[in-house]
Amino acid sequence: MKFKMFSVIVGTEACIASCPFCVSGVTPNCENMKEPKINWRNLDIACNLANRSGIDTVMLTSRGEPTLFPDQISEYLKHLAPYKFPFVELQSNCIPLALNHKKYDKYLKEWYTLGMTTITISVVSEKKEINQKVYTPNGEYINLAELIEYLHGFGFSLRLTCVMCNGFTDTPEKVQDFINFAKQNKVEQVTLRPVNDEYRRQSAHDWVAKNKLTEEQKDVIRKHLADNGTKLLDLERIGSIYDVNGQNVCLSLPLNKYTRDTNPDNLRNLIFFQDGHLRYEWEMEGGILL
Ligand code: SF4
Repeated sequence: MKFKMFSVIVGTEACIASCPFCVSGVTPNCENMKEPKINWRNLDIACNLANRSGIDTVMLTSRGEPTLFPDQISEYLKHLAPYKFPFVELQSNCIPLALNHKKYDKYLKEWYTLGMTTITISVVSEKKEINQKVYTPNGEYINLAELIEYLHGFGFSLRLTCVMCNGFTDTPEKVQDFINFAKQNKVEQVTLRPVNDEYRRQSAHDWVAKNKLTEEQKDVIRKHLADNGTKLLDLERIGSIYDVNGQNVCLSLPLNKYTRDTNPDNLRNLIFFQDGHLRYEWEMEGGILL
């Protein structure tokens, strides 16, 4: 079997944000703030399989917000180190990192030393008031430019991942503003990801049905990138990478039945869950190896 990506699940469904399109994030409580135990034996099996697949990127990700479990991130990095994956990434809304430097300074230093290469910052726009509506409707959203400077200060490469929804980042002009913001702040990579319209809990499903981009909107954005940039790579079932005025931009494809390939040598994701389960599908429970 061969996979394109290796996802490793951190923490629980707990998240301090409350995005209407979220698969699962729930308010932190006594139960979901307990760190799940990790089946290290099966993580070794997963790492061996990932290495045999020639996977170059491990993504530390979560059903909630992974940075609420910083010790677990450190533990994972220690265990992943011997396998020498070239790129080790963390996918996060980064709000905890921005709000509490005192707590996270030491973790960020440690994570960099332990081989983390990239932090992916999830947003819906570069504009504070728009991110605030989605991530922190009851409080103030962080200063994104300051967060970028802070994380660059530790040496991380950064990717701004914009979940594109109607009314937020949904036109070529707004996409270009987002790209310009990334360029001004020296963000290494940008991913534009139309909000996924499948496999959602009911409340998210209803919100997404109203707020997802139409195929026409996606086509106009794709055309904007093609007209104003140079296509560099087509990553099968993942997306296309462009250079737009020197800014790396990936227009990503959603993870759904249309990007599934039943050829076992062309699977998209190897996913490790803390209890030791190893899957190649996020939502289809039958897609399991261990
Ligand atoms: S930041 Fe991520 S995990 Fe948290 S609520 Fe939003 S989509 Fe869900």
